[in-house]
Amino acid sequence: MFYPPKRILMGPGPSDVDPLVLKAMAAPLIGHLDPAFLNLMDNIQQLLRKLFETNNRLTLPISATGSAGMEAAFVNLIEPGDSVTVCVNGVFGERMSDIVVRSGGTLSRVETSWGKGPDVDAIRESLLLNHPKILAVVHAETSTGVLTHLSKIRELLNEFPETLLLVDCVTSLGGHSVGVDQYQVDFAYGGTQKCLSCPPGLAPITVSDRALEAIHSRKRKVQSWYLDLSMVENYWGDNRTYHHTAPISMNYALYESLRIIHEEGLEQRWNRHHKNHLAFVAGIEAMGLEMLVKSRDRLWSLNTVKIPDGISDGIVRAKLLERFGIEIGGGLGPLKDKIWRVGLMGTSSQKKNVLLFLNALEEILTEEGLVLEKNAGITAAERIYV
Ligand SMILES: *Cc1c(COP(=O)(O)O)cnc(C)c1O
Repeated sequence: MFYPPKRILMGPGPSDVDPLVLKAMAAPLIGHLDPAFLNLMDNIQQLLRKLFETNNRLTLPISATGSAGMEAAFVNLIEPGDSVTVCVNGVFGERMSDIVVRSGGTLSRVETSWGKGPDVDAIRESLLLNHPKILAVVHAETSTGVLTHLSKIRELLNEFPETLLLVDCVTSLGGHSVGVDQYQVDFAYGGTQKCLSCPPGLAPITVSDRALEAIHSRKRKVQSWYLDLSMVENYWGDNRTYHHTAPISMNYALYESLRIIHEEGLEQRWNRHHKNHLAFVAGIEAMGLEMLVKSRDRLWSLNTVKIPDGISDGIVRAKLLERFGIEIGGGLGPLKDKIWRVGLMGTSSQKKNVLLFLNALEEILTEEGLVLEKNAGITAAERIYV
């Protein structure tokens, strides 16, 4: 058997998993068409609708990781030649662009520098020029820590009622409100290992009636057999037609994590993520460090800290892992060696993790030669909690 080392997962995902979720995964298997499993599927769908804040009938977990949710969105909605506008301000906007091209779409990119939110005027220009079938945005850009304000995107799209809104909620779902119905999102997807605190393996999606109509009226079959929602929906819908074998244990885990989420309450959960984020930022700034993102565009679930001059990214992260068992992420692409990415997602979003991290970082940075006021970070963070 493999015995993993004990870790505190404060990176860009996966996050720490509640022991109850792990226990759920160890339950005996039943068949994917067993009436008890079908009943579990219904319950999962109901809890996912609550989580996405939607009444969309087509709401289910795709049997694969978050990237499959992304791929499902594009391959189902795009027919060859369809125009698609993607807002790119990090790794996941880049990944969307790649999938659009692979799916035969005609891509227009609206780029903003990494660490900034999308520019609404630039998006409007692209929409006026291209009248795309789809506008795609990343709600929570995990590579930079930037939140896209969906209210502004919705307001803009009201000028372009034909365009479908596609939103990546992988790092926001369960940590921030996503408001699928409120913002009339046509296709949203998440992943289990970020703010849901479940192992990686499923990608919850929700699809508006309007987007479903677009899928049903396609002229050509979806190029991906596995992700073709017109078939997947028959297994998750009333017909229960076999499509693929649902990953049984992963669905046990998802159900338990959704149960835990709704037991806590969505509002309470978002507030918890917000508070721990505020305490984290207060601590970081009191230590004299800087956040990458300006305050109103910051994610609560993924915090990006600028690495101080003269400090080695690799040494600090290795010491955090070896000495404290804390995993955080480094920067990607243009932000490599420039930022740390500290996740406070789901179960990992806890006061004790914030304090432990600030304490560990102070100790390591002091060793690495920075002159820091003793306990300044923790003291500032504690003040947020009183
Ligand atoms: C993690 C992530 C994904 C990809 O999810 P995987 O589970 O790694 O496939 C997609 N989008 C965003 C914003 C993410 O953070």
